[in-house]
Amino acid sequence: MKAEIIAVGTEMLMGQIVNTNARDISLKLAELGIDVYFQTVVGDNADRIQSAIEIGRTRADLLLFTGGLGPTQDDITKDVLAQYLGRELEIHQPSMATIEHLFSSRGLEMVQSNVRQAHSIVGATPLHNAAGLAVGNALIEDHTMYVLLPGPPKEMRTMLNGPVVDWLRTVLTDEKPLYSRLLKFAGIGESNLEAKLLPLIEIQDDPTIAPYAKEGEVSIRVSTKANSLDEANRKIDETVAEIDKLVGEYLYAQEDIPMEVEIVHLLQSKKLTIASAESCTGGLFSLLMTKVPTSSDCFDGGIVTYTNDMKQKLLGIPMEHLEGESAPGAVSTSTAQLMAERVRELLDSDYGVSTTGVAGPGTTEGKPVGMVFIGIAARGKETKVFQLSLSGDRSSIQLRTVKNLQYRLWQAIKEHS
Ligand code: ATP
Ligand code: MG
Repeated sequence: MKAEIIAVGTEMLMGQIVNTNARDISLKLAELGIDVYFQTVVGDNADRIQSAIEIGRTRADLLLFTGGLGPTQDDITKDVLAQYLGRELEIHQPSMATIEHLFSSRGLEMVQSNVRQAHSIVGATPLHNAAGLAVGNALIEDHTMYVLLPGPPKEMRTMLNGPVVDWLRTVLTDEKPLYSRLLKFAGIGESNLEAKLLPLIEIQDDPTIAPYAKEGEVSIRVSTKANSLDEANRKIDETVAEIDKLVGEYLYAQEDIPMEVEIVHLLQSKKLTIASAESCTGGLFSLLMTKVPTSSDCFDGGIVTYTNDMKQKLLGIPMEHLEGESAPGAVSTSTAQLMAERVRELLDSDYGVSTTGVAGPGTTEGKPVGMVFIGIAARGKETKVFQLSLSGDRSSIQLRTVKNLQYRLWQAIKEHS
């Protein structure tokens, strides 16, 4: 089963918007075990859309379109496909009723072009648009499957996750369903993770192991086709146990959650609290903590002591320590240590963490861009400081600093007794 994604829209060819829908659709299809061999982008032009269909048909079993289902004259995807297949368009009554209701309830007059959003290709399965007005379509002709989705990402995703998945399940009945589990890693880069897992990946074909990376974090999807969830879980558990043997120290979750969620859960389960003092990361650690609902149970608060003055005023770090010929300086092991310890004491938390470093682009205190220190102080324990040497621009150094801090913190709390 091979799929091709055809994104329709001149805005993408002009560079005005990024084709994020293709990424979202590819991720979903990968989850369903459907291989995507090509992603095409084509402008709002009938001849060129038709040529994309002709080419796509020769190399894919499933053509998934996104964009051009709206009311305006440049929204022509449905018309072009209908014409290509020699079919008529008809009005999908439930969608029409929704559109009419929307206009009348707002006291607006419906224009003729809105009717286009209720158009459905004759013989196609209408796909309900729970987040918008334009109805989608799915159909099979001549062994090729066609799926038409709207362009606005929220509408596209809602339709993809609901009616499209349902439709694919009904037409792909001879395939066993695919089950998968996401494993989330921290403190290890993608290539390093892959290298460590290579012996396993090379001999493993069911379940399959597929690594992928976002900035600062890596995940692995373990997937298998099975007759039931129980059967799938048994197979996946065995593979996860093998993975755990090789890289277990970096594996923090077996579901798609960010590290801050895992940290909050751990802190809550151990009834621990935490405070932060950040310099080069400007509050990013705090921001991520506060994104987690209920984190007020464990996150006491954070301060951004960006200047040396603030490090002195708010944390009481002596200026002689921060500035001067023979001083360690703001970017140093001892400053990271003092920041973590002082903020912990100040807020009377169980943990205090800190970041101080050179995010660039210029050097500070003669120290190179990417030199960063993170501190972790715990009540009654010796403070740990880690020196990092990070690459990338300012914002990636900030993000990587926080990801590193989170990883070290997670390790510390896990072992906390
Ligand atoms: P509308 O009813 O809004 O006209 P539509 O189905 O006709 O929806 P388009 O007109 O192609 O879709 O795109 C509408 C908007 O959706 C675009 O301006 C863009 O912001 C977003 N969009 C379209 N295609 C994509 C894509 N492939 N990736 C990300 N965003 C997209
Ligand atoms: Mg449009």
